[in-house]
Amino acid sequence: MTNILNFFANPAANEASPKDAQQTAGEVFLVGAGPGDPELITVKAMRLLQQADAIVYDRLANPALLEYAGDNCDLIYVGKKKDQHSLPQDQICELLAILARCGKNVVRLKGGDPFIFGRGGEEVEHLNKQGINCHIVPGITAAIGCGASTQIPLTHRDHAHAVTFITGHRQNGKMHINWDLALQKDSTVVFYMGLSNLLEITTQLIARGCPASKPFAVVAQGTAQEQQVLVGTVGDIAARLEKHPLPSPALLIMGDVVRANGYAQKLAD
Ligand code: SAH
Repeated sequence: MTNILNFFANPAANEASPKDAQQTAGEVFLVGAGPGDPELITVKAMRLLQQADAIVYDRLANPALLEYAGDNCDLIYVGKKKDQHSLPQDQICELLAILARCGKNVVRLKGGDPFIFGRGGEEVEHLNKQGINCHIVPGITAAIGCGASTQIPLTHRDHAHAVTFITGHRQNGKMHINWDLALQKDSTVVFYMGLSNLLEITTQLIARGCPASKPFAVVAQGTAQEQQVLVGTVGDIAARLEKHPLPSPALLIMGDVVRANGYAQKLAD
C-alpha cells in the first residue's frame, strides 16, 4: 500500500516521476463501488479494477473489491480513520491529477455512485481543468441498494410517484434541508448522512406539518451481511433508535412505501 503522504511531502519528485516528457498521461476513472455487498458492482468497474495502476479508495468502498487489483497496483486509502481527519478534498483531487500525470491509469473507487453525494463532481471539475481524461462509471447508490435489500420499493403506483434524495448532513453547524421537498405528498424521501441528526430531522418535519404517523425506516449497513433495519414512524423513530442504536453508514427512508410490503411490516412489530 502506498503512503499518500509521500505524494505531498515531495511535490518536485512527483512531477519528475514520468520517465520522460513524452510519457502519455494516464486517465482517471471515477468508479462506483455500490452500496456494500461487493457483488453489486458493474462488470465494467470490475474490469477497470483489474487493469488499474493505482486505486484511490475511501471508507465506504468495500475493501473486498481491492482483491480484483493486480499485483503491481498501488492501493491508496484516502478515507477517514477513526478519530482522524480524512485527506482534504482538494488534496484528493490533486493526488488523482499527480498519478495521472505520472502515466498511471487510476481508479477512484467510491461507495455507491460517484455522483450521488460522492463529491465526484468536484473531482471531475479539477481533472478537466488540468486537461486530464476522466470517465465516470456509475454505481448502485445506497438508496437503490437499501430499497432492494429491505424490499421497500422507493416508488409504487399506490404510494409514491416520486422519490427525493436529500442530504441530512450538517455543514458549518447548520442543516440545509429544503423542507418543502421533504414534505411533498405521494413521494418517498431518502435522507443520506442523516443518522446523527435524526431527532432534529423528525422534529422539524412534524413542526412543519408532516403527520407523525408517516412511516419511517432506518437502514444501517444496507445490502451487507450486517444489515440492520429499524421501522417506525416519523413520530417514534428517534425513540426507537435510542433504544436500538444502529451503526453508520445508515440511510433514512420516509414514506408510505415503508409499509408497502409484509417484510417491512414484520420488522416493525
Ligand atoms: N455516493 C454514495 C453516498 C455517499 S454519502 C452513494 O451513492 O451511496 C454517505 C452516506 O450514504 C452515508 O452517510 C449513508 O447515509 C449512505 N450510505 C452509504 N452506504 C450505505 C449503506 N450500505 N447502507 C446505508 N446507508 C449507506
